[in-house]
Amino acid sequence: MTSPGTIVIRAKTLIDGNGGPPIKDPVVVIEGNEIKAVGHQEIFQPPQGPGVRELDFPQGHILPGLIDAHTHLMFGTVAGQGYGEGPYEEVIERDSNEIMLLRAAHNTHIHLSAGVTTLRDCGARDRVTFDLREGARQGLVTAPRLLLSGRPVTITGGHFYWCHGEADGEDGVKGAVRQLVKEGSDFIKIMASGGGTAITDNRRASYDASELRAIVEEAHTHGKLTTAHCLATQSMINALDAGVDMMEHAGFIEPDGSYLFAPSIAERIAEQGMYVSPTVQTGFRRREALLAKARSEGLSSEEEERLDSSKAKCESQLEFLSRLWSDWNIKIIAGTDAIQTFGDYCLGLEIQSQAGMSNMDIIQSATSVAAKAIGVNSLTGAIEPGKEADLIVVEQDPLKDISALRSMTMVMRAGKRVVPYGPMEE
Ligand SMILES: [Zn+2]
Repeated sequence: MTSPGTIVIRAKTLIDGNGGPPIKDPVVVIEGNEIKAVGHQEIFQPPQGPGVRELDFPQGHILPGLIDAHTHLMFGTVAGQGYGEGPYEEVIERDSNEIMLLRAAHNTHIHLSAGVTTLRDCGARDRVTFDLREGARQGLVTAPRLLLSGRPVTITGGHFYWCHGEADGEDGVKGAVRQLVKEGSDFIKIMASGGGTAITDNRRASYDASELRAIVEEAHTHGKLTTAHCLATQSMINALDAGVDMMEHAGFIEPDGSYLFAPSIAERIAEQGMYVSPTVQTGFRRREALLAKARSEGLSSEEEERLDSSKAKCESQLEFLSRLWSDWNIKIIAGTDAIQTFGDYCLGLEIQSQAGMSNMDIIQSATSVAAKAIGVNSLTGAIEPGKEADLIVVEQDPLKDISALRSMTMVMRAGKRVVPYGPMEE
């Protein structure tokens, strides 16, 4: 028996996302938007007949669609033209919500083409990302699965305050969470320290632990997970005290601005089973551009300073990830913090590799472990019957070289092929 929407995919190997050994000569059967069966070509007879479309990738490796746990869709550069680049404040002042919505639509498409079939947006202004989701629901935009925080909850004048999610005190933050849930937030993003927003201080915590606890309790009351932006070391402690579900960045920035790993905090993260999305690629491309400029035309003194601070930041990020992973076995999640560049998802995976994670562990951090962290593991994150058919196919073996995930031969989201674009041949 075949249903009208049956697809049979064959390839050279299959990596299931759960960490199991790769399956040689696999066959995957998809009906509608769902994976129906996974097996070996030798022993498993897939359905045949006029309603069955077959996709063969003799050299291909099948993996679950990738997950980016941290983006900001309203920012980002369009085709190298520079719009969306620059300091936050410049973009925020120049661009309307409508322009941000269009850019978000553009960015979802670029990220999906890079194999990201599930994307969690960690903060946008007003209702920009909610409107994007409505557009996707109406079929106006081809988007990954979207998990949205909407406006991040932040103190008055805190990081991303211009998203209009400012709230203070336990009652204030509870009200903010209720309002977000009412409007459609899938999870609550908390700015627990300052960040790149001009008037904020990334060396200091913003909320105290009791405010954070109020946010977490209110979010959990509504069945929503929480994640906290934590650059300052104190904000990491506060987030642990409050039982936040996940931590973004894990910056370990001391009040004097130095980067200093704290084993006692790593131990607590491990004990509490908190997920960490270290967003290791933030600043990496900007640093590359500065280095290139230094080689070609030289840098201004202001650029020299930026290059120095980016060195400290990038090197610390790598060291901290390496220690969190190797010494404490902390659950690491892939996330780009894409603000400037969408579609560059693989860079973060390559840096995870430099930090000493095995390619299989990296793949899990981008699939099954990420799916669990953000609460969608019943739907995606692995290739197994019952999951939605979110799949990618790549030509090179990512277990040999993780950069294989740079180039997509096929991307499928919920049984619909989006790369290559166009109707599937019968
Ligand atoms: Zn972010």
